[in-house]
Amino acid sequence: MIFRHTEKRAYDMYKTMNSLVELDVKDYLVNSKAHRLNKHKWARPLIWAFRIEQVYGPLYGKMLRINKKKCIKCMKCVNSCPHQNIEFKDDKFKFHWQCTLCARCSFNCPTNAFSTGFLQLWKVNGRYKFKEPQEVEKDKHPKYCKKSYIRYYKEAEDRLNNSEK
Ligand code: SF4
Ligand code: SF4
Repeated sequence: MIFRHTEKRAYDMYKTMNSLVELDVKDYLVNSKAHRLNKHKWARPLIWAFRIEQVYGPLYGKMLRINKKKCIKCMKCVNSCPHQNIEFKDDKFKFHWQCTLCARCSFNCPTNAFSTGFLQLWKVNGRYKFKEPQEVEKDKHPKYCKKSYIRYYKEAEDRLNNSEK
């Protein structure tokens, strides 16, 4: 959602996240390190109260539409919805009120048959390859969260280096 990342960025994030799995599991299960959010008493209730999907998710779910001409009835959307929000009955799709805005259905649809209401312009469709890209792809949003990405990769590198000591 919002816009498509380059394959390189998707691959870098995937690779970094994978390299941290073992450390994260160790931190939580062996070292009993609390998530940093747990350190602030009011953080969790506040985050819960302002969860965007809590308010807009059900509305978004009701706005979803499927283009019948494009749909090949593969049922990927129905089967991959984590909240059983999409039902296919009597040759019709029905959307319920349990949507949490994950966008998995529209993202994974093999024929891009979804229309996502007022978020249509932000819709992203099509799986990432999660492989080292062979060609250089132009990044259309090079400044998006640039500092956060730099910080994330730096922290990941530091954690990995420290764990080897
Ligand atoms: S994933 Fe796409 S093509 Fe498959 S059933 Fe859903 S809308 Fe149709
Ligand atoms: S897959 Fe996600 S976005 Fe699609 S209907 Fe289900 S909860 Fe909503």
